[in-house]
Amino acid sequence: MAVLQVTRSPDPLLRRRTRWVKRIDASIQKIIDDMIETMHAERGVGLAANQVGIPLRLAVAQPEEDDEPIVLINLEIVRRKGEREVNEGCLSIPGYRGTVRRSVKVRAKALDRTGRPFKIKAEGDVLAQALEHETDHLNGVLYTDHLVDGQLRPVGAPSASEDPVGPAEAAAS
Ligand SMILES: [Zn+2]
Repeated sequence: MAVLQVTRSPDPLLRRRTRWVKRIDASIQKIIDDMIETMHAERGVGLAANQVGIPLRLAVAQPEEDDEPIVLINLEIVRRKGEREVNEGCLSIPGYRGTVRRSVKVRAKALDRTGRPFKIKAEGDVLAQALEHETDHLNGVLYTDHLVDGQLRPVGAPSASEDPVGPAEAAAS
């Protein structure tokens, strides 16, 4: 396994839609292992393949340290419900945070690393946020595209007083 270099904005790869994974072979398994290792090294809660220079529709997520990493091949959101404002960061835009509008309930589908389809549901938590953040990445979208107040804050700066989430040390992925 290897820690990969995280692509930084404004790299054009972050702005391109990724390609569907057609065949889950040994090279995909290696990419998955390297992405998990990179997510851990960067202390992120998620990582999309195009953030490590690979233009495939593939992401990993791990909302809590004690969770098992979740492999999300061909990730697609199938349903969103509700709205909330959250503090967010991105490993491709290091050193900053911003407030974005996300869904409360998120339902997504993907393939696991053996190619088995599964559905995943999350509500009001970091996983829900990560599923939307990673799906955005895979579609060439960055969280800075939908900042509610149009402002990026340096990490450590106080967040907006009405910010419902609180800590500026918001999850990055
Ligand atoms: Zn990100």
